[in-house]
Amino acid sequence: MNIKDIMETMDYGPAPEASTDVEAWLESRGRVFGHFIDGSFTGAGNALIEVENPATGEVIARIPEGTEAEVNAAVAAAKEAFPAWSRLPGFERARYLYAIARHLQQRERFFSVLESIDNGKPIKETRNADIPLAIRHFYHHAGWAAAIDTEFPGHEALGVCGQIIPWNFPLLMLAWKIAPALAAGNTVVLKPADLTPLTAIAFAELLVEIGLPKGVVNIVHGGGATGALIVRHPDIAKIAFTGSTAVGREIRRATAGSGKKLSLELGGKSPFIVCADADLDAAVEGVVEGVWFNQGEVCCAGSRLILQEGIADRFLAKLRARMERLRVGDPLDKSTDMGAIVSAGQKARIMGLLEGAKAEGYRLEQSSCPLPERGRFIAPGFFADTEPSATVSQVEIFGPIAVTMTFRTVDEAVQLANNTSYGLAASIWSENINGATELAARVKAGVVWINATNIFDANAPFGGYKESGYGREGAREGMLGYLKRSVRKAAPAEIVPADLTAMPQTEGAVATYIDRTMKNYIGGKQARPDGGASYAVRDPSGEILGLAPISNRKDIRNAVEAAAKAASWAGNAHNRAQVLYYLAENLSARAAEVAALLQRMTGVSKEKAAAEVRQTLERCFYYAGMADKHDGLIHAAKPRHLTLSVKEPIGIVGVAAPDQSPLLSLMSLVLPLIATGNRVVAVPSPACALIVQPLYQLLNTSDVPAGVVNLVTGDRDTLAKVLAEHDAVNGLWYCGTAEGAAEVERLSAGNLKQVWTNNGLAIDWVDDAVARGPEWLDRATQVKTIWVPYGA
Ligand code: NDP
Repeated sequence: MNIKDIMETMDYGPAPEASTDVEAWLESRGRVFGHFIDGSFTGAGNALIEVENPATGEVIARIPEGTEAEVNAAVAAAKEAFPAWSRLPGFERARYLYAIARHLQQRERFFSVLESIDNGKPIKETRNADIPLAIRHFYHHAGWAAAIDTEFPGHEALGVCGQIIPWNFPLLMLAWKIAPALAAGNTVVLKPADLTPLTAIAFAELLVEIGLPKGVVNIVHGGGATGALIVRHPDIAKIAFTGSTAVGREIRRATAGSGKKLSLELGGKSPFIVCADADLDAAVEGVVEGVWFNQGEVCCAGSRLILQEGIADRFLAKLRARMERLRVGDPLDKSTDMGAIVSAGQKARIMGLLEGAKAEGYRLEQSSCPLPERGRFIAPGFFADTEPSATVSQVEIFGPIAVTMTFRTVDEAVQLANNTSYGLAASIWSENINGATELAARVKAGVVWINATNIFDANAPFGGYKESGYGREGAREGMLGYLKRSVRKAAPAEIVPADLTAMPQTEGAVATYIDRTMKNYIGGKQARPDGGASYAVRDPSGEILGLAPISNRKDIRNAVEAAAKAASWAGNAHNRAQVLYYLAENLSARAAEVAALLQRMTGVSKEKAAAEVRQTLERCFYYAGMADKHDGLIHAAKPRHLTLSVKEPIGIVGVAAPDQSPLLSLMSLVLPLIATGNRVVAVPSPACALIVQPLYQLLNTSDVPAGVVNLVTGDRDTLAKVLAEHDAVNGLWYCGTAEGAAEVERLSAGNLKQVWTNNGLAIDWVDDAVARGPEWLDRATQVKTIWVPYGA
C-alpha cells in the first residue's frame, strides 16, 4: 500500500509493538517456570501446564501444577515471614511497596507486552490500563503502609493471606490483592490463573530484585485443585478471591467454620442504562469501553444495554456503525481495539451461549470486521431486543457480546437493572444529573458510573452487592479487609440450655406465670406461631416464668415478608435517629420493670439487671446519634470526577442473639443494623426469650415502623439455618455455638449473603470497645462507589 492509497482509504497501517524483550526473557528461562516460594524459584516438577498465546494458539511456556507439599511449603514460608514483616514499622513496608511501583514503572513496556502475549488483550489496553493501574495500586498502598498507625489505630494484620486471581486482568488483580495485604503487614500465598501466569512470574523476579524479605510473597501455580488446597489450608487467615460466582460459592462452603476472613469479587451482569436525554455518541463510546474492552472478559462489563424506548433505534444504529469500525486482531498491534479470547475453552463457552440464544430465537448482530485466521477471535456484537428472562440476559457471557432491552419509565429501568442475581456495577447515561443520581441510588450495585464506564482507581473501593460477592478492594475500605481490631483471645461462648418441649396451652397450667402466653412480633403485630406450640421459659431454679412460641420456617418466612415491606426505613437518617431516641426514652420509662424481668430470667443481682438496662439505653442513644454520622467519603481518585463512597444498608438481616446479657446483646446486634437502615428478623436467646415481650411493646410505642424489627422465638440454630438459607435475607449475624456458626456460613453460599458470626466465642457485651462502635456500623453497611463527572 502506498501513501496515495493510504490517503484515500485512511486505513490504519500495521503498528506492531516489538516483543523481542519478552521473547528473550522467555528463552533465557527455557520457557519453563517453577513456583516462587520463600524467596526462590522452585524446579518446575513433572506436571507441566502449557501456557498458550491466545492470539496464535502456540505454547509459549510451561508451569507446574502446585501440589499439597508446595502449597504447604508456601504457607509455611509466609507464616515464618509474618512476625517480622508485620512488626516492621509502616514506613519500612512503604519503602518496599514504593520500590515495587518504581521497578514496575521502569519495566512498564515489558510488562505490557508480556501481559498482551499471555492474555490476548490488546497492547493499547495493557499499556494504558492494566499496567499503569497496577503501578498506581502499589504507590497508593505504599501510602497506607506509611500511615498505618495514624489511619488505622487499634488494628493489626491478619496473618497469611491466600489470594486466588483470575485470568482477565492478571497483573492488575495481583496488584489489587498483594498491595493492600502487604501494606497492612500480612504475608501472602497467591495463585495466578493457570491460563495467565507469566506477569506474576516476572513480578516475582522483580521482588527478588528489590530485596523483599523471603516468604512475604509466595506464588504457587496450578489450576482449581491448587486453589482449593490454599482455601482449605488451616494456617491461612484470609482468603481473597476474584473469579466466577460458582467457585466463590465453593470457597464460601469450604471456609465455613474456619474463622478465615473472606472477600469475594465475583461475576456480574451489569446494566448499562441509556436515558432518552443521554449524549448518545458518548454512550456509544461507553459501550466500546464497557462491553468490548478486554474482549468483554470483564466482571463489571456493562453487558445489559437498557435503552429508553424513544432513542433505542437511533442508539443501536449508531452502535452498529461504531462496531463496524472496531479493529479485531493482533493484540500486539497498537491500533488493535479487540484482541483474542483467552482460551479455546472460554471461546467455546461463549459460542455455546450465543448459539443457545440464537436457537431461542434471538437475533445476534455482529461486526463484519475481518478476523485473523488463526487464534481465538470473536467479532463484537449484541443481541437486539432480548427478553429479560433469556439465558443470555441472565448469565455472564464474558465475551464481546451485549444484550439489549428497552424501558419507558425510570421505575422500569430500575426494575430491569435490578432483575439479576448479580450486583457488581452499573453505568448510567443521562444529561440530567438529578435523574442519573436517582438511578444511581436505586440500582443495586457496588460501583455506579454516571456518563462513564470501567473507570478504576486504587483510591476508589471496588466490589459487589448480592451474588457478585462482598468485601471491597482499593481505598480505605479495601485496607480494612486486611486488618482486624486488636482484641484479647476469647473463650468459647457459654450456651444456656433451654428446654424447647411444647407445653400444654391450658390456662390452669400457667398459674405461676408472670404474664400471659407471649407471641412473636412480626410486621408490627403480635403473631401466633405457625405450629401453635410454645415452650416454657424458666428461671435458673426451674420455675416457669412464661411461655414463648416455638417458631418454624413459616414464621421466619412471614417475618422476612414483613421486613421486605418496610424498605422505606432506609430513607431518612434523621428520622431513624428520632425513632431510636424515642425507643431509649420509652425504655427508660420502663427500666425497672424490664430489669425485674431480666433479674428473674437470668438470676443476676438487682444492680446487675439495672445496669444491663441502663447500658442498653446508652447503646440506644449511641446508635441514635450515629444514625446520621456513619456516612461515606469523597475519594481523591481521578480528576473531573466526584468519586463518592456511600454506605448503604445491606437490606434484610437475620440476627441470632446469644445467651449472655440477653437484652444488651440482642440490642447491641439489632441497633447498629436498624440505625443504618436495615430491617431485622431477630431470634432472641431461647433461654431468655421472654425479653421479647417488653421489647415489642417498646417498639410499638416508639414509632418503629412495622416490619423494621421482627422478633421470632424458638430454637436458635433451627431458625438461624432458615435465615441462612432464605434468598430474600441479605445478611446474617449469628452468635451461638462454633458448629452453628459453621453451619450458617455454609448455608449462606446459596445467595452469598454476608455473614458475621462469633465463631462460637464469647463476646464481652458490656465492654463498649468490643460491643459497639464503627466496626459494627461498617458491618451493617455496604459501600456503593458512585462516579459523578463534573465539568462541561
Ligand atoms: P474461575 O472462577 O474458575 O477461576 C478463578 C480462579 O480460581 C482461577 O485462579 C482458578 O484456577 C481458581 N479456581 C478454580 N476452581 C477453584 C476452586 N475450587 N478453589 C479455589 N480456586 C479455584 O473462573 P474461570 O477461569 O473458570 O472462568 C469461568 C467463568 O467465570 C468465566 O466465563 C466468567 O464468566 C467468570 N469469571 C469471572 C471473573 C471475574 O472477574 N469476576 C474472572 C474470571 C472468570 P485456574 O483458572 O488456574 O483453574
